[in-house]
Amino acid sequence: MSLNSADVFPVYRGVMEYFCLGCGQRYGMDELHYTCPSCGGVFLLEDKNFNALKEKSGQEWQELFDMRAAAKRQALRGVFRFYELIAPVLDEEDIVYLGEGNTPIVPAAPEFAEKLNLNFGYKNDGQNPSASFKDRGMACAFSYLKGLTRRHDWDEVLTICASTGDTSASAALYAAYVGGPVRSVVLLPYGKVTPQQLSQPLGSGATVLELPGVFDDCMKVVERLADKYRVALLNSKNAWRILGQESYAFEIAQWCDWDMAGKAVFVPIGNAGNITAVMAGFLKLRELEIIAELPMMFGVQSSHADPVFKYYAQPEEGRRYQPVQVTPSVAQAAMIGDPVSFPRVQLLARRYLEQGGVFNVVQVEEQAIMDAMLTANRYGHIACTQGGECLAGLLRARECGLIDSSVFAVLDATAHALKFSGFQDMYFNSSFPAEYEVSSKQNLVNRPEMLLAQERLNAQPREAYYDEAAAAAAERLGLKMK
Ligand SMILES: *Cc1c(COP(=O)(O)O)cnc(C)c1O
Ligand SMILES: [Zn+2]
Repeated sequence: MSLNSADVFPVYRGVMEYFCLGCGQRYGMDELHYTCPSCGGVFLLEDKNFNALKEKSGQEWQELFDMRAAAKRQALRGVFRFYELIAPVLDEEDIVYLGEGNTPIVPAAPEFAEKLNLNFGYKNDGQNPSASFKDRGMACAFSYLKGLTRRHDWDEVLTICASTGDTSASAALYAAYVGGPVRSVVLLPYGKVTPQQLSQPLGSGATVLELPGVFDDCMKVVERLADKYRVALLNSKNAWRILGQESYAFEIAQWCDWDMAGKAVFVPIGNAGNITAVMAGFLKLRELEIIAELPMMFGVQSSHADPVFKYYAQPEEGRRYQPVQVTPSVAQAAMIGDPVSFPRVQLLARRYLEQGGVFNVVQVEEQAIMDAMLTANRYGHIACTQGGECLAGLLRARECGLIDSSVFAVLDATAHALKFSGFQDMYFNSSFPAEYEVSSKQNLVNRPEMLLAQERLNAQPREAYYDEAAAAAAERLGLKMK
């Protein structure tokens, strides 16, 4: 294979079909389907030509993707480095790239790993452009939408989503960039997204609609709109998003030099789009023999929003899915009682097990999530509350004997810590409302300290003020004279 092959746009084209998990119907990809027109079920998108990809050996694929990592082609710099595995139907001119993907796996700080006697690292998906993993899926969904809009010459495309905060931030960002006929509307549960997450779609110029209730309520409203009006829904039922999010799995495998033996991946579960995508991604790699083994897969849920955990905790015979009523959770982006992608989880978990993989869902307490997040960040990580949830999940999996300390666990820091700093504030100020069930451990609390009172600034010339402040700092820090 010549080096040039990495620097040209891929020639392979797939034939993508929507495949309904409810009734098994298939639909062509020229229409923007959100759910199945005949039964309302969720879709997966499948490439009918996928087997043709097996003409290349696993090693040839590895080499191609490794070469592409150094290629300069704009459309292939992000998640479409793995073009053939994601949506090999997009034209180069339609691919939207805002710097998503290619996020690092940062090994746990050595002291931290030693303290916990665990072997793990954070994959920092908060380093995506809108500061969450949602950008992976949006890059794919908007690239598809852009192509569709161009081919049909549509003069207006209204994108809409309900969100726990990050989907709307991402959708609004990509819509603003694509521009033209594309306009973005987001529907948020009033008071249930962080101020940072609210500022994002506002800053991108989206129409932001708020509604009393929780995410699940907003979701129902958006679906009613989609039933009756012409809008493009961008919630994670949108199967194009799932495809883009598979890149998370591809990147982990490439980062680990395609060796997934002795590795585990921890993902928080909200609507369950992400864990579905990650499993689907690893299964594709396995099928093409790009990896020889599947990593162990762990979903993590808070006890305040745990329908998927509750489902898999039942004996296998006669498991029944039951939505739960959520109570406030610091892992707010995953605070979902009736995950729309649940049928996808069932299917992919089954396939994962059939292929010799391990799939578990663990449940963690709110207190454990906050303590884990704050501790991780004290060791130089940038984990959000959902990232804390993953670490709490790893600790829980260890406790339950589901994983041993030799396994390297990749924890998903799904968003940047800054988006969720309000929860840190509540912890540091001991101001969590009771229903969160979080109390502050003083050894994790950190607060700013005032060096001098305001009147000291007014009371003296500036030079004297600086001297006094320096003396106060030296005293506070116990500095020794040179
Ligand atoms: C959306 C989101 C989740 C939950 O992912 P699902 O695909 O809904 O399961 C977790 N963490 C963050 C930061 C998110 O934005
Ligand atoms: Zn159907």
